[in-house]
Amino acid sequence: MAAAIEVYQQILQELNVTNTTLIAVSKTKPVEDIVALYNAGQRDFGENYVQELIDKAALLPTDIQWHFIGHLQKNKVKYIAPFVYLIHGVDSLSLLAEINKQGLKCNRVIDCLLQVYIAKEETKFGLNAEELTEILSTVQSGIFSNIRLKGLMGMASFTENQSQIKSEFQYLKHLFESCKKKYQKLSDFTILSMGMSSDYKIAIACGSNMVRIGSLLFGSRS
Ligand SMILES: *Cc1c(COP(=O)(O)O)cnc(C)c1O
Repeated sequence: MAAAIEVYQQILQELNVTNTTLIAVSKTKPVEDIVALYNAGQRDFGENYVQELIDKAALLPTDIQWHFIGHLQKNKVKYIAPFVYLIHGVDSLSLLAEINKQGLKCNRVIDCLLQVYIAKEETKFGLNAEELTEILSTVQSGIFSNIRLKGLMGMASFTENQSQIKSEFQYLKHLFESCKKKYQKLSDFTILSMGMSSDYKIAIACGSNMVRIGSLLFGSRS
């Protein structure tokens, strides 16, 4: 992991300039790799499978801030509700309602991001602009006491075409800003989570303030 720590520190320096938060995406990687970055100072880690997240969290220091970045099934919310730091991929009102319910049960207010569909790929999840508006209006009305909507998350197309990636990120930034204006009661709406190993520089240039980086830190996944 010595090389990885160097890469980690380089990325941190880049992100410092724009005050961007780094989520180290540790999915499929062993606990030892997480410990190495933890010892270098990293506290925010991202996982996308519930079982894997629970297993790892049980073995690791409790001051790690766990981000759930995958597609969350309603029947699994209860397993992560007691400790998850931020849920990035909320893409329906019914999922939000379930997170609220589980938050209530464990007496926590759970921070969430709404996932917006910005890619030109069928395989990706997320809300369109209309669905986003609908959810934000509902949340602003105050029915969810145990949820705090912190912002938006999105994934660009998996493509070499930099200008396409850029226009997808620009679109999400635009949505983010217009939501902030329109839903001023949501005062905690401050996070724009976009950018991965291959496109985080473009994402930052487009106004991201939270990037989710895996393979660049931990090596490629098989
Ligand atoms: C896996 C994953 C990442 C990190 O991907 P890398 O290309 O390895 O940086 C970021 N966000 C989400 C939602 C992911 O599933």
